Amino acid sequence: ETEAFVARQPTSRAFRDRATHLAGGATSNWQIADPQPVWISHGRGSRIWDVDGCEYSDFHGGYGVALAGHAHPAIVAAVTERVGRGTHFAQPTEDAIAVADNLAERFGLPLWRFGNSGTEATMDAVHLMRAATGRSRILKVEGGYHGHHDSVEVSVLPEADDDIGPRERPHNVLDNSGIPTEITDLVTVVPFNDLEVVAQVLDEHPGEVAGMIVEPVMMNAGIIHPLPGYLAGLKELLHRHGALLAFDEVKTGMTVGPSGVTGIQGVTPDLVCLAKAIGGGVSTAAIGGTDEVMSLIADGGYEQVGTFNGNPLAMAAARAMLTEVLTPAAYTHLEHLRTRMETGLQGVIDEHALPWRVITAGAKGCVSFLPDEVHDFRDFLTLDGRYGHAHWLVQHNRGAFLPPWGKVEQWLMSVQHTDEDVDRFVANFAHLAERLTR
Ligand code: PMP
Repeated sequence: ETEAFVARQPTSRAFRDRATHLAGGATSNWQIADPQPVWISHGRGSRIWDVDGCEYSDFHGGYGVALAGHAHPAIVAAVTERVGRGTHFAQPTEDAIAVADNLAERFGLPLWRFGNSGTEATMDAVHLMRAATGRSRILKVEGGYHGHHDSVEVSVLPEADDDIGPRERPHNVLDNSGIPTEITDLVTVVPFNDLEVVAQVLDEHPGEVAGMIVEPVMMNAGIIHPLPGYLAGLKELLHRHGALLAFDEVKTGMTVGPSGVTGIQGVTPDLVCLAKAIGGGVSTAAIGGTDEVMSLIADGGYEQVGTFNGNPLAMAAARAMLTEVLTPAAYTHLEHLRTRMETGLQGVIDEHALPWRVITAGAKGCVSFLPDEVHDFRDFLTLDGRYGHAHWLVQHNRGAFLPPWGKVEQWLMSVQHTDEDVDRFVANFAHLAERLTR
C-alpha cells in the first residue's frame, strides 16, 4: 500500500523536493506524514483533488474544519462579497453581532469574543480562569489536546515508555520542547471520566486551583465519550472549590450537533472554546462565557486582544456558516450520514468477527481497533497504531482522504457529503478487513 501511495503521487513528491525553504517541507509538523505529505490543488463539495489530479471523498475535513464541505455556495458568496469591500480594519463589522448572537443562543452563554485559532481560544480560557479566580493551578486531562500554548502542552500524547506514572495520578509529560517546567508544574494532569481523582486534587490544593480545561467528548485519542454524570459532576466539584470549568469544544462545537456537547449533555460550563468548523473554512475562533467571567474582559480586568480578532473575513464566513449552512435540515442530513456510516462499518466488523468498535459523535467518528470500551487515555494507550496507519493507506489509495494520524484522529463528514461518499468509505474498510483476516 505504501508503494501504491507513492506511485500515485509523483507531483506531491516533486513539490516536497522543491519546498527546500519550507521548514520540514510542509506548513505544519502535522502535515509531514509517512511516506510523504499530500499536496492539495482544490476542493468542491465533499471532494478534494491533489496536485496529481487524484480525487478523494474528503473525510479529513482539514482536521475537523470543513463541516460545510468545500466551496459551499453560501460561504463563497459571503466571503466574495466581503473581499470586495475590504478585509481588515481592526474595527468591528456588523457580521460580528450576528455571530455572537447565534453562538449565545446555541450555547446558552451570554458573552463572546473572537480569535483566530483553537490555540488562542484555549489560551484565553486558561488566562481567564486564572484572572477570574486569582489562582494559578490548572487541571487538564491526560491525552487531551488543547493547542500549542505553554500551559496545555503537557501529557497530550505520552507513550507507554514515557515516565507516565499511575493511571490515577499521571506524571506530567512534556509534549514539546521550548516549554519551561516552571509553567507546566502549575498544571495537574488527571484521567478522563474520573471524578474521584479531581476531588482528591482539589482537596490537596485548597484555594490553588483556578479551573479545569476539558474536551467534553475527548477527541485526539480516537473518540472517548463522557460517562453519565461526569461533566455535571466536574462542574459541581469545581464550583464547590471556587474553581471554574472550561469546555474545549474546538473540535466538537459544531460537529457533534448544533450546540456542541454543551447542548447534548445539558451542562453549561463557565467558558466554551470554539474554532475549526465555526468559520466555514476561514480561520476563526470564539470564546464564550458567563457574565461573571466575561465581565473581566468588558471592564478591562483581562485584556482579550489581537490584531485579527473578529476580522471581517472571518466574521462574514462565520455568519454564513452559522446562519445559512448549519440549519436544522443540515443536521438531519448529517445524522442520516452518521447512521449509514455506523451501520455499514459495523456490518463489516460483524461479518469478519473483528474485535473492533465504531465510535461516532455526530459528523465525527472513528474505528477503534480495540476490543474493549475506552474510558480514558490509558485504555487508549494499548492501541496498536499500525491498524490506523494501514486503514489510512487503504482508504487513501481508494479515494477517501483521512487524517494521517489514524491512531488518534477521526473522520469528519460535511453537509455536502452523500451516500456515495459513505459507501466508498465502507467498501474501503471492507477491503482492509478482508486483507487482515484473509
Ligand atoms: N483544542 C482541540 C480540542 C483541538 O483539537 C485543537 C486542534 N486540533 C486545538 C484546540 C487547537 O486548535 P488550533 O490548531 O486551531 O490552534
